[in-house]
Amino acid sequence: MTALSNLSSRAFAIETTDLTKAFGGRNVVDSVSLRVPLGSIYGFLGPNGSGKTTTIRMILGLVFPDQGEISLLGVKDPRLRRQQLSRLGAVVEGPGFYPYLSGFDNLKRFAQIAYPAQKLLDPATARIGMNAVSAALEKVGLLDARNKKYRAYSLGMKQRLAIAAALLWPRELLVLDEPTNGLDPQGIVEVRELLTGLRSQGMTIFISSHILSEVEMICSDVAVMRDGKLLFQGTTQAFRGSLGEQFYLETTDTGLAKTILLRLELADPSSINIEHDRLSAKLTTNEIEKVVAALVNGGVGVRSVGKSAHSLEEAFVNLTGRSGHAR
Ligand code: ADP
Repeated sequence: MTALSNLSSRAFAIETTDLTKAFGGRNVVDSVSLRVPLGSIYGFLGPNGSGKTTTIRMILGLVFPDQGEISLLGVKDPRLRRQQLSRLGAVVEGPGFYPYLSGFDNLKRFAQIAYPAQKLLDPATARIGMNAVSAALEKVGLLDARNKKYRAYSLGMKQRLAIAAALLWPRELLVLDEPTNGLDPQGIVEVRELLTGLRSQGMTIFISSHILSEVEMICSDVAVMRDGKLLFQGTTQAFRGSLGEQFYLETTDTGLAKTILLRLELADPSSINIEHDRLSAKLTTNEIEKVVAALVNGGVGVRSVGKSAHSLEEAFVNLTGRSGHAR
């Protein structure tokens, strides 16, 4: 590896190159190259069945890729993967907590099973283990509710406990598969606030979701999958802008306005939409004043002009052909 490629990969918490996995002769993940910037909340989006979980399982070393490479926190060498994985916390499937145990006792039990190497079971070091459990509960805001039975937890608290289990050891990267799946609106808000707080402490967070609106507000970056392929990757802002901004004009004569826009090639013909005295279109120029001048010179009165940015949902539907809410 050259010094330069080493340096560039360090800007990414996760970097995959042409990651591919086939099941039954079909590429369910097809040459996917992800670049997850350090310090980002990265939304890994796509309808169900688009290959998100398989990609995550490959990143976590639970499934072997057929092709491609994975670099975790700047290290590509598969022989160092195990060591790198200890810097990463993951919630892929619910960790199976006991309903009749408290949040604290569940986490203690989980720590003893998941981290025997750290001797959390060892009575001599049991205090260290308990500190780790308390610290993880505090990080997710459950310290006050630590003695409450798991079954009495709200959905949001249950998910926060699952995240606490991933945070028992200090982590730089958190990978969450559908963390808001099945949560009520209150639970979604709780998980969102938790993740935003963890990011502000410097953690990189990778979240998969098939429901855009649940992650849209907190993601700095997004990737969109469909049928195993990566269709888009970039900042959330770039994703919203990927359809181009739509302008709208309120005019005295929408028909004439349309004719002028088309004659002077100021708007994309297929984008023009007219409703009452309002015309919306994707313009071919950023100079809106020129468009207004052309309309006024052509005898069209312009009452108002505005821009409407596309929502992430619209961009998602446009890319995948599926509603973000489709199951
Ligand atoms: P997502 O997480 O986006 O819902 P998955 O990665 O779970 O997508 O699944 C992608 C495709 O791969 C689906 O068609 C699924 O049925 C298939 N698939 C996933 N795991 C296996 C497996 N172990 N054996 C066969 N097919 C699988």
